[in-house]
Amino acid sequence: MKKFVLALLLTFAFMPAAFAARMRLTVPEEAPIGQPFFLELRANEAIGDVTVTWRGQKFVLAPRRNAVRTILGAPNDAKLAGSTLPVQVEFDCGAKGRIRAERKIKVTGYRYPKQVLTVAPKMVTPPQSELKRIAEERQLVRKALATRSKGGVLPRRYVPPVPGIPTAYFGGFRVYNGVPRSGHGGLDLRAAVGTPVRAIADGTVVLEGAHYFSGGAVYVDHGGGVLSAYFHLSKNLVEAGQKVKAGDAIALSGATGRVTGPHLHLGLFSGGAALDPLPLLEPQRLPKGVEVLYEI
Ligand SMILES: [Zn+2]
Repeated sequence: MKKFVLALLLTFAFMPAAFAARMRLTVPEEAPIGQPFFLELRANEAIGDVTVTWRGQKFVLAPRRNAVRTILGAPNDAKLAGSTLPVQVEFDCGAKGRIRAERKIKVTGYRYPKQVLTVAPKMVTPPQSELKRIAEERQLVRKALATRSKGGVLPRRYVPPVPGIPTAYFGGFRVYNGVPRSGHGGLDLRAAVGTPVRAIADGTVVLEGAHYFSGGAVYVDHGGGVLSAYFHLSKNLVEAGQKVKAGDAIALSGATGRVTGPHLHLGLFSGGAALDPLPLLEPQRLPKGVEVLYEI
């Protein structure tokens, strides 16, 4: 769906009656909890870095050919369903000064499936001896997910990390050996042990290691607060700080950590919130963007 609406922009500077610059801002009007969506902005003249404000966080994006694209989403939290959240963009546009625009996004509910799993008992209630390690790993992950490097233009299309089909979907409230745990934070894909795992997009490795629950794990920063994560790996092929290209083999899949068998767990994060990676691999699932044209 594409809708063209003419809107006025708030500017802080005097606007000379020169050639009208135009800016197109595309976001969906509705987005379900836990589902990612694209924010796209295109201008017809040079613009400076774009600051996006969403859920109290600011993400800075460097335009390429006067355009940016990033991934946002509301966390998978049922309490957010029914709320309306603003998203703001802000940038400098030559003599026109500071430009600001705001759109409102209605957050809707989403029925994620429940999953009942059986794993080794120590993966439900870890032994006392592992608690320190688990806490340390949690800190490392928190720090990795707090990465806020400058973003730019994320792709529209993403590389499937393995060829396998989904075996468990995102968001499902999980019951491990009869014990309820929080929702599944990613997408599980079928992968025999040793399958090359590919980065879904260009980025920089910010964390890799062998973690208690996640097993072999790699976290890739794509800029603008967007990260992907790959778990249960048998071998990590990259180091923290390493730049990777979309499609690069970053690891071999495995069955390490809390698993019921070999598979790849793919995680997606924006602003620290876990989102469903599936719509990046099957774009027809993405909430439909609505383009608004602004004369500035
Ligand atoms: Zn998983």
